[in-house]
Amino acid sequence: MRKNIVAGNWKMNLTYEQGVSLFSEIVNMAKDEVVGEQEVVVCSPAIHLSSIAKLSSGVKNVHIGAQNIHEAEAGAFTGEISGAQVKSVGAEYVILGHSERRAIFKETDALLAEKTNAALKNGLAPIFCIGETKEERESGRFFDVIKTQLEGGLFHLSESEFKRVVLAYEPVWAIGTGLTASPEQAQEVHAFIRKTVAEKYGEQVADDTTILYGGSCNPSNAQNLFSQEDIDGGLIGGASLKSRDFLDIVKVFN
Ligand code: 13P
Repeated sequence: MRKNIVAGNWKMNLTYEQGVSLFSEIVNMAKDEVVGEQEVVVCSPAIHLSSIAKLSSGVKNVHIGAQNIHEAEAGAFTGEISGAQVKSVGAEYVILGHSERRAIFKETDALLAEKTNAALKNGLAPIFCIGETKEERESGRFFDVIKTQLEGGLFHLSESEFKRVVLAYEPVWAIGTGLTASPEQAQEVHAFIRKTVAEKYGEQVADDTTILYGGSCNPSNAQNLFSQEDIDGGLIGGASLKSRDFLDIVKVFN
């Protein structure tokens, strides 16, 4: 049985105090309101991780993650942060391959394969993002784009390694734009992703893989998206910065 997960990606938002305060609200609300088995994951900037890990310690269903790691174990990489460092403060997840990292920081599939290895080696579960641009959707090439991202970033993994990965389909044209993919558009791609995983790792692994949807997901559209057969939760940007909105999205699985 695959897990349902609602993960927040705070991106480069919130000062230390604002982040700790928002996370405290999320934890308190989750304690009272989350009744199912769904996982809540908050991916904060690195500066918050150590403190929010303490606030979430022992709280059922609430987990934390980073938004990026460097591919190397340690060394002379000024300004970077390693998987071991992120793990050492209590993070369990790390977002990899976000379209902002791919586009702005020029992260390639080959680099993301190395970062995935670094995450797994350090006991972090990658939330691995894939998705097409507006132009790639309009030209009809989006299935190829997604397949290439899966093959380049992940398909070198052994079956036991792959089983620790969470996938997130985030169409770039839907991120921060208010243009959500329709439930049917998202389901079509999620089904394609699951089929592609099945061809590589078999039906059982594909069936057990959690595939999140991300891109302008909010309390009004989450229900329709998450009720699709192959959509197992969401990766939430803007709406994860408001505790009420975020928890309302989490509670779709109650
Ligand atoms: P928005 O929910 O703000 O569109 O961001 C989605 C996203 O990029 C999550 O990683």
